[in-house]
Amino acid sequence: MKSHSITLGILGSGQLGRMSALAAAELGIKVHVYGPDKDSPAEHVAAKSFVGSYTDKKMLKAFANSVDVVSYEFENIPVSTIRYIQKIKPVYPDDKLLEISQNRITEKKYLNDIGIPTAGWAAIYSPEDIDKAVGELGAKSYILKTTRFGYDGKGQTVHKSSDSAKRSFNKLNSDELILEEMVDFKCEISVIIARDKYGKSAIYGPIQNVHKNHILHTSTVPAKLDAKVAAKAKRIARKLADAVGLIGVLGLEMFVTKDGRILANEIAPRTHNSGHWTIDACAVSQFEQHVRTVCGISVGDPTPHSAAVMTNLIGNDVNKIKNFYETKGACIHLYGKTETRNGRKMGHVTVLKPLKSTRK
Ligand code: AMP
Repeated sequence: MKSHSITLGILGSGQLGRMSALAAAELGIKVHVYGPDKDSPAEHVAAKSFVGSYTDKKMLKAFANSVDVVSYEFENIPVSTIRYIQKIKPVYPDDKLLEISQNRITEKKYLNDIGIPTAGWAAIYSPEDIDKAVGELGAKSYILKTTRFGYDGKGQTVHKSSDSAKRSFNKLNSDELILEEMVDFKCEISVIIARDKYGKSAIYGPIQNVHKNHILHTSTVPAKLDAKVAAKAKRIARKLADAVGLIGVLGLEMFVTKDGRILANEIAPRTHNSGHWTIDACAVSQFEQHVRTVCGISVGDPTPHSAAVMTNLIGNDVNKIKNFYETKGACIHLYGKTETRNGRKMGHVTVLKPLKSTRK
């Protein structure tokens, strides 16, 4: 099939789906989206929208039959849904990567098994496991997290002692948790990698990220990092993408420690918020790479032509948009969400600067 006559199906209908659908339109590729909500950001720009639950097999079948290939923009889609659709149409990235990234224990174990270091961690199924883990990890402080459905810091508590972590165990109301050593990091970075069916990859970053209230606030490129550390971060992302046989895009969040070590924290099996600047600062954005790779087209040039700072507009921040109307180099992106809620990602602004001026 000719690439420009493909119809791509995207599970999930938030802003990531919206930005992939916009990139697809530039390539002449139609997008059908599937999600539980009406009037969603992706629905506004898609050729067709299916509104249904991720377990509605009849609706999922109709969706799969309406497209040539399927991808997803949200990592909490049930793996069983992906496996059901895989029987009808190809899905990229596949169920394996999704399954690894849906559970923090599976994720950390997989990363360590392929030789990618993480913060010290232990699986927790009972308060007694916390005593054992604190004894073994011997850190100054710890972070206790739920293993599933945690994002933007939800389901996480910080502790200095095992007694305090044990009190949280009951409050978090989950029978499986992970206790991690709290990393005293120098900075947080991410690398985004696109990999095509030919095994060729394109890398963005490292990107330097700052979080506010556990939600990504700004992403800056180039990151202020030693060249060797930056090269290592890219090698780690490539190692992961090759190991999982990625077809699509993934984001890898990492900590850089004060002594120059890199510890992987989280895999996003999809385009990543820290890569939104690529729309305006690169010939080929992360969203175009997503569409290309899942539709069987080779990866494009990820080289940035500008330095960039991306700022998320969270909740009421969206009202500050007029401050950017006349800012030099500002590229405004709003997601078409009508209801403003605390913590809700309403849009982002990327401010571009010439690359040379950042080297002074
Ligand atoms: P996560 O949900 O794992 O992406 O965590 C959200 C944010 O919490 C991260 O971006 C960090 O700022 C912080 N965080 C999570 N895990 C750790 C850790 N082990 N050590 C230090 N900070 C952490």
